[in-house]
Amino acid sequence: MDEQALHEAAKRFGTPLYVYDLGAVRTRTAELRAALPGSAALLYSLKANPLPAVAAEVRAGGCRAEVSSAGELRAALEAGFPADGILYTGPGKSAAELAEALERGVGTFSCESATELRRLGHVAASAGRRAAALLRLQPVEGPASGLSMADGRQFGFDPEGAVRACADLPEAVMVRGCHVYLGSQISGVGALLEGFASAKRTVEHVCRAAGLVPEVVDLGGGFPWPYATPGTGGGFEGLAEGLKELLADWATPGPAPEVWFESGRRPIAESGSLLTTVMDVKVRPDGATTVVVDAGVNVLGGMTGLGRVLRPGTGFENLSARGDRATLTAAVVGPLCTPLDRLAVRAEIAEPRVGDLLRVPNVGAYGPSASLAAFLSRPPAVEAVFDGADCVGAWRLATGHVAADPWPQPLA
Ligand SMILES: *Cc1c(COP(=O)(O)O)cnc(C)c1O
Repeated sequence: MDEQALHEAAKRFGTPLYVYDLGAVRTRTAELRAALPGSAALLYSLKANPLPAVAAEVRAGGCRAEVSSAGELRAALEAGFPADGILYTGPGKSAAELAEALERGVGTFSCESATELRRLGHVAASAGRRAAALLRLQPVEGPASGLSMADGRQFGFDPEGAVRACADLPEAVMVRGCHVYLGSQISGVGALLEGFASAKRTVEHVCRAAGLVPEVVDLGGGFPWPYATPGTGGGFEGLAEGLKELLADWATPGPAPEVWFESGRRPIAESGSLLTTVMDVKVRPDGATTVVVDAGVNVLGGMTGLGRVLRPGTGFENLSARGDRATLTAAVVGPLCTPLDRLAVRAEIAEPRVGDLLRVPNVGAYGPSASLAAFLSRPPAVEAVFDGADCVGAWRLATGHVAADPWPQPLA
């Protein structure tokens, strides 16, 4: 989207405003699909952005869905993903959510423990059904870079536990194969290939030891893209060839399995920009400048959720500067009443003035839904979706208190 269109969108919807460009979703989805074997499935992780209008474009690019809550499931269905192609993941799934997912026709559950297999078996049996499952396995080796899911150790079976579980499966559960997710933001084709090779070894070990014939192996993802800073996630040169070689033979019982990959951020990160307005500029006696904008960690909080408060790298483009202003270094803070509401410690910005419109790039993934949306009870940012010059629609997350069962009436 060009600058003119961004200014017009900000005028129409106000700020803080997320704008998504479906053209970018199309390009990045096609790029990732082309780097993966044609026979492999690519699952879009709704965790990265559950807005149905955005998810629907990823679906149109040939992806299935990976969800990990009842809300994400509903968003995936609204985006038109067929239920039987959906993978339901995540630790601690309750009987109620499993029952809802089964009822809505979810095809496959990634099961994280023997307890969860039993719970799924019980829910499926009560519904007079059988449920298909993948065994989520702890990676035996961590990824070379990025945010490791293995770090927390809360995910999946250790290999021996998986082998034991296979010997004692609930009748109503059909194990179709295995699922390994090494982590996010694995940079470089070499590191990605190493990660997939290691995930494959883990799966091969478990399947051989358990005598499990895997029909499906989900090797995870980790395809990178910068967050809230300018730049790109790099290309995939060599990935297709490397995967072809890696997947040519399998040390698992039975025929070669179907392979699945997952990505949240890669198809959509670039498509999203956050537009925010400068509300105040404070220059202290020592010359230090603080810029107050109308978007805080309630609107752009992705890294907060990852345990980081300071995000020194957030990048801002001043859309109101016309090349006539000097660049200055400033702290950028949001409007929340907490000193932790900082978007950048030292940002380089063309001299910001009150009323200027700033753009943060690469926030199509882990934007509003990954933020502290309810903190300070401000309205969540509007999310406007564009296809070229056309606005497809605009939405806003809902927050605020509603009466909870078993007290359906609000207090008088
Ligand atoms: C979060 C997550 C993803 C998506 O990660 P990205 O870095 O956004 O691609 C994929 N699979 C699983 C199991 C996840 O938990």
